[in-house]
Amino acid sequence: MNGEFDERGSLRVVSIDDKLQPILTEVLRRNAGEAEFHQAVREVLESLGRVIAKHPHYLDQALIERICEPERQIIFRVPWHDDKGQIHINRGFRVQFNSALGPYKGGLRFHPSVNVGIIKFLGFEQTFKNALTSLPIGGGKGGSDFDPKGRSETEIMRFCQSFMTELFRHLGEYTDVPAGDIGVGGREIGFMFGQYKRLTNRYEAGVLTGKGLAYGGSRARKEATGYGNTWFVESMLATRGTTFEGKRVVVSGSGNVAIYTMEKVMDLGGKVIACSDSGGYVVDENGIDLGLVKEIKEVRRARISEYARLRGTGAHYIAGGSIWDVPCEVAMPSATQNEITGKDARTLVKNGLVALGEGANMPSTPDAIQIFRSAGVLFAPGKAANAGGVATSALEMQQNASRDSWTSEQTQTRLAGIMRSIHDTCAATAEEYGAPGDYVLGANIAGFVKVAEAMNALGVI
Ligand code: NDP
Repeated sequence: MNGEFDERGSLRVVSIDDKLQPILTEVLRRNAGEAEFHQAVREVLESLGRVIAKHPHYLDQALIERICEPERQIIFRVPWHDDKGQIHINRGFRVQFNSALGPYKGGLRFHPSVNVGIIKFLGFEQTFKNALTSLPIGGGKGGSDFDPKGRSETEIMRFCQSFMTELFRHLGEYTDVPAGDIGVGGREIGFMFGQYKRLTNRYEAGVLTGKGLAYGGSRARKEATGYGNTWFVESMLATRGTTFEGKRVVVSGSGNVAIYTMEKVMDLGGKVIACSDSGGYVVDENGIDLGLVKEIKEVRRARISEYARLRGTGAHYIAGGSIWDVPCEVAMPSATQNEITGKDARTLVKNGLVALGEGANMPSTPDAIQIFRSAGVLFAPGKAANAGGVATSALEMQQNASRDSWTSEQTQTRLAGIMRSIHDTCAATAEEYGAPGDYVLGANIAGFVKVAEAMNALGVI
């Protein structure tokens, strides 16, 4: 037994199965100092006790050890000139985590906090997320400690070109297919695709996703992660006979995922009252004006503090602080990892939180997850709830491979179906393993089993 039942009858996982502890100990030893990677591995291993009881061959075949070790890790130098001619050196990463189900697939993050441990945690999560989509994609992640804030368009272009000049040799539509993440949107993907095309002399549209519509991108890709997370939460709410209609919703961040989460929540009748960036958050009791957020973030590329100034009465900006102090019934963290602490979780629960959908990757700390689960909050883990982005990237690859371009309706219909199916798979798996309503357990087990079965069939490679 790797858990105990709480007062509401749901399984609360409290420790790792004795047979899995040595595997975790070895991961911690071998990847010393990589705190986020440790956290991601621990969370998955906490869910696997019941799986190995049912399928002991996963242990005999060392499948768990193999899944925790990336297939390949690439670290490289990225030199570039700024507009004044000064030379800068950044570090580039690509962790090709697992290709049992298809080519490595996962975004590139440009943020000063990036290091190999962060890229490994993201690649590890991505492997299970991609499996949950049921599409033929393996897991990978990459990026750089480059800080795009305050850089001119030409500096961004030179950086992207230098980054791709090294990375291109490791990519290919059947090998490794990156996309965007924090700090990497359509503009950066365009610069990198241009450089890839120039270096290889190949118009290999399927080598990057998140491309612009003008050169092989998919409709609905930029909306996909936010819309997908919202549909996932809608499915969870339906299990309790309720909807977004009239609910107060807080969305952290104001980037790609946050903007399209707000858009879909509003479509479904929810009232978004707060959003943020790394400087602070805005509260607007009249409901966030999404047109204004898009203007500030997508056009002017300015700070969210501008919102309160331009919106006038009814909106205010709080520098620093925690957006999770704002009372809400639904929380949609869409900024970064570990943005919801145990303290934030207690505040959210006290203020009447009903459901939470992780748009960001691993935004809740382990303490926070424990508090949500114990309080009976409907909790959607990122590896399930934010899979809509990568699922639509896989649909972009399908369109590129068939030289086709689907309508927005076609793409959104496919995406909505995929999100419903991920929700139902997680719910059914949690039920099958004796923890009804536990989407963390359901997502971890369903994702793991898919990857492990494929790896087992491919032999010891
Ligand atoms: P963007 O760069 O478009 O937006 C990120 C937002 O989060 C910005 O508002 C940014 O504020 C804020 N933010 C970033 N880092 C921090 C930090 N350390 N502290 C506080 N705020 C921060 O990224 P995305 O919207 O693409 O990604 C957001 C999250 O969603 C990430 O966890 C990403 O891994 C995850 N995700 C993204 C997918 C996608 O399709 N894009 C798919 C699945 C998951 P500021 O501008 O001030 O830095």
